[in-house]
Amino acid sequence: MGRHARLDTHLIHAGEPDPRPLGAVTMPIFQSATYEYGGEGEYDALRYLRLNNTPNHAALHTKLAALEGGEAGLVTGSGMAAITTAILAVLQPGDHMIAQRCLYGGTHDFVTKTLVRMGITTTFVDGDDPASWDDARRDTTKVLYVEAMTNPLLEVADLSAAAAFAQKHGLVSMIDCTFATPIVFRPLELGFDVVLHSATKYLNGHSDITAGAVVGSAEHVDSIRHLLNHLGGTLDPHACFLLQRGLKTLGVRVRHQCASAQRVASFLAEHPSVERVNYPGLPSHPNHARAKDLFAGFGGMLSFEAKGGAQGAERISAATRLFINAPSLGGTESLITMPAKTTHVGLAPDVRRGLGIGDGLLRLSIGLEDPDDLVDDLRAALA
Ligand code: PLP
Repeated sequence: MGRHARLDTHLIHAGEPDPRPLGAVTMPIFQSATYEYGGEGEYDALRYLRLNNTPNHAALHTKLAALEGGEAGLVTGSGMAAITTAILAVLQPGDHMIAQRCLYGGTHDFVTKTLVRMGITTTFVDGDDPASWDDARRDTTKVLYVEAMTNPLLEVADLSAAAAFAQKHGLVSMIDCTFATPIVFRPLELGFDVVLHSATKYLNGHSDITAGAVVGSAEHVDSIRHLLNHLGGTLDPHACFLLQRGLKTLGVRVRHQCASAQRVASFLAEHPSVERVNYPGLPSHPNHARAKDLFAGFGGMLSFEAKGGAQGAERISAATRLFINAPSLGGTESLITMPAKTTHVGLAPDVRRGLGIGDGLLRLSIGLEDPDDLVDDLRAALA
């Protein structure tokens, strides 16, 4: 049995109610904000939609925990609700965080603006250079924050070293695993404390809701849930239903997307008009060996730079017929976007370029179309 041999069964069965309500094979939607008082003794236990404890939430919490191999799971109203609440549940004014450079644009903005306003500072480090992390550490450092694969360059930090560094220094290690999903990587097995997802992407997989997920020890997840209960970043029961339905096909979707992304990346790497392809499944990627060692697959995201700079990139994205020009990722439709204009538009241009995100970089989210059609579409657009 492989490392993730039982994952597909968890996707279908973990967290499903037993007995099934009125025999329903799929989990019904409990569209009720409040529930009869049952003698609960604590505020967080009162059954109320904002307190994240409806039957739809409970089913997802158990399923998410099973997928990541964690003690407890929590679903949130968006990926940013998961990320911001998890960070705020640990850090206080005066505290410090070490974070990998090149975070998702929304997280970067939150860390460099909102947290700073609250008296919480962050030092950004090179995820590939563990020796430098000691210089960044202070007495007030409480959190180490990384992403499984960075957006949009698909860099894979030294994740084993990150988990070990946090353990050695008593830091809470957090990892945004949106791009990898538990099909590709399960960070708790490596020693990470808290796994975060934008479930808007692969976990739901159909580009029709926003949602987030947190998985970790019962202690960490309880404190994050308590804060989420106050901040109000709850997922609506109908969106819970859609997420639960989407999760059931996560395995077949992500494995198909990994295979198609590899095919598209190989095509682009050979194309004379393409200067650089960022995909960890290509032997030319600087972190290929590490990704091969840590991951079961290389994901469905890639980025590339074609000759002709930003104008050339705009022409390519306008010329594609199957790839839809849109940000976000992880759905059934393949998407193309220019990070400098969308996901990373909030970064100052020099900061963005310093991170290696060129103005002409194009990012692809590979969907579930036939990969030959995707390659044909790109071939025609590049021509
Ligand atoms: N993390 C990553 C890696 C993302 O790409 C995104 C969104 O694009 C987020 C977090 C934020 O997720 P959401 O839009 O669900 O709040």
